[in-house]
Amino acid sequence: MKSLDEFLQDAAIAHGHLCAGQVLGVRMAMLGLEKLGIEDPQGADRKRLVTFVEIDRCATDAVGVVTGCRLGKRALKFRDWGKMAATFVDVSSGKAVRIAAKESSKSLARSMHPEMESKNQQQMAAYREMDDADLFDVQWVKVELPAEEFPGFKGERIVCEQCGEGVSYKREVQCDGRVLCRGCAGETYYEPIP
Ligand SMILES: [Zn+2]
Ligand SMILES: [Zn+2]
Repeated sequence: MKSLDEFLQDAAIAHGHLCAGQVLGVRMAMLGLEKLGIEDPQGADRKRLVTFVEIDRCATDAVGVVTGCRLGKRALKFRDWGKMAATFVDVSSGKAVRIAAKESSKSLARSMHPEMESKNQQQMAAYREMDDADLFDVQWVKVELPAEEFPGFKGERIVCEQCGEGVSYKREVQCDGRVLCRGCAGETYYEPIP
């Protein structure tokens, strides 16, 4: 396993800059791997891990760098809860651990480095130094992971009866006797411009 500094270097390159969120995300992911006993997430253990992230911020990129879990590999799952937390699932053992940044870590960072001017500087320094217990809440959890959620799932692709577009991974919905995509079923996030 790489050191915190090595992961931070990788994270800064992948994310475009080093920031407090990178430090938080790297430490969160390192702690998750440690709790699960996963030592080589990018190599020998690369098929063991699925990670749920609960926010789309700086730290999310860092979690991806450390775990090797990517959206495009289906090993990174996004739950848009706006919370600085992630759940690391070892699919080989079924064990899962949810790690959430403590709300109190922000004020602790301020008190640890009052000599620094910016909040980002204070947090960047303090998040490196803080004990895990001051930075995170750790909770063992159970995550229901149906077959279609697994990265290697090969399933049937159906065609939406309304728009004709293909839908994979059982994301279709039954609606008044028709099989529809989520958009046509009313869950849409866009409106066509006439
Ligand atoms: Zn950032
Ligand atoms: Zn459709």
